[in-house]
Amino acid sequence: MERLREGAEKLTAPSSGDMPPEEFRRYAHETADWIAGFLARVDDVPVYPEVEAGDLIRQLPVDAPTSAEPMDEILRDFRELVFPGLTHWNHPAFFGYFAISASGPGILAEMLAAALNVNAMVWRSSPAATELEGVATAWLRRMLGLPQDFEGVINDTASSSSLYALAAARERTYPKAHDEGLFGQPIGRVYGSDQAHSSIEKAVLTLGLGRGGYRAITSDAEFRMDPVALRAAIEEDRQAGVRPVAIVATLGTTSTASIDPIAEIAEIAAAEDVWLHVDAAYGGPVAVLPEMAGYFSGWETADSIVVNPHKWLFTPIDCSVLYCRRPQDLVKAFSIVPEYLSSREGDGERSLMDYGVSLGRRFRSLKLWFVLRYFGRTGIESRLREHLELAALFANWVEEADEWSLEAPVHLGTIAYRFAPGWADSAVQDALNLRIAELVNASGQAFLTHTSVGGRIVLRLSIGNLRTTHKHVAGAWALLRQAAVEATAGLA
Ligand SMILES: *Cc1c(COP(=O)(O)O)cnc(C)c1O
Repeated sequence: MERLREGAEKLTAPSSGDMPPEEFRRYAHETADWIAGFLARVDDVPVYPEVEAGDLIRQLPVDAPTSAEPMDEILRDFRELVFPGLTHWNHPAFFGYFAISASGPGILAEMLAAALNVNAMVWRSSPAATELEGVATAWLRRMLGLPQDFEGVINDTASSSSLYALAAARERTYPKAHDEGLFGQPIGRVYGSDQAHSSIEKAVLTLGLGRGGYRAITSDAEFRMDPVALRAAIEEDRQAGVRPVAIVATLGTTSTASIDPIAEIAEIAAAEDVWLHVDAAYGGPVAVLPEMAGYFSGWETADSIVVNPHKWLFTPIDCSVLYCRRPQDLVKAFSIVPEYLSSREGDGERSLMDYGVSLGRRFRSLKLWFVLRYFGRTGIESRLREHLELAALFANWVEEADEWSLEAPVHLGTIAYRFAPGWADSAVQDALNLRIAELVNASGQAFLTHTSVGGRIVLRLSIGNLRTTHKHVAGAWALLRQAAVEATAGLA
């Protein structure tokens, strides 16, 4: 006892330890005020920054500070150096990639999750975090109209979710691989459309199936997977001794937000006894709308489904839900339990570490739970409908305008379109569209991205931010038309 006390006296002064509570309180209030001000005036901030590559790096020292720095200075540098160099995804005129939102309730939950810093790797490492993940994903599952046997687990991204789903599919196709690896096994193949997300091919690579392990199925004129071509590809592969591992159907593709014919694909998966994974990372949330049910009919027979609340469900990044019809398939692919993690309490509760690669797990269910409660089902429905209406409106403007064309049917919140004046050939049109996007983004008043479909450059406009209104969409359309005039000045 004496010796212990002596040791304590030798410890370094009271300067060690975390930020003192009073200081924390002060800066927490200040930061909360700053966040509230940012959200209230985000409209006034340029959505895309006026910066050159390396700008921030040049302004920051090479080394971390030797001695402590005051919080005032750290926050000032955040405001003056970091903030101006950001592309603002939470801006109502952010229409690039897929528009997303960090909603108020989601931000508050993130603050709390950071303060608690719990890690729900096994049940006992944070019981309520493990259980809330089950509750929040079950709530969402019911809202989406999916049957009870789907169990949800939250990952960082859809890329991870799809990787895990395909790992389970691989496990089922190659039971021996669990112990022996894939060495000497027959070639396996995953099928997706030529519009599927690159994360699927990446997963195939990661799982050791090689680039040849992915087969892109042609899509039709509306960018939907062609089920006849899918069936033929599987037939051909089987004849050649290739093992089908999984079919990936996409509900809301990345380039044009097209929707694969899931009912027909599900029939093929059932007939062929092949794992069906549905990538609804973007499109999934609109399954809560009864009028959209037709697009989803058949997805309830899938083996696995990914939906990203961090895309079109107002949850701050990162939050991707993977639903698995037989969760034990996932566990079979990933469960390796060393003694220090073996759990003897809470039997019957799952260990979330068994559902994927990572052991540590952020408390992501808290923000999903906050978002679902704060907006409620009807609140979520009305916001999604608003986005769908705005997208239809924009599509209508494009269709009616001379020299502009709609490049894909609009079913969701994302529009693929192109400035296509008759006097310009396709290559010139490509260059014009790239220039138009550049001009719009340089204005700082709207941000959009392009894609390539059928070998042509196509512009996209994705509507999905909670703060986006008619004014912002109309503003983007005006900017686009103005940019087209500028881009063609002296050309026609
Ligand atoms: C965005 C998206 C992905 C990738 O999502 P991450 O969460 O960023 O990995 C995969 N598939 C589709 C269809 C997507 O829209």
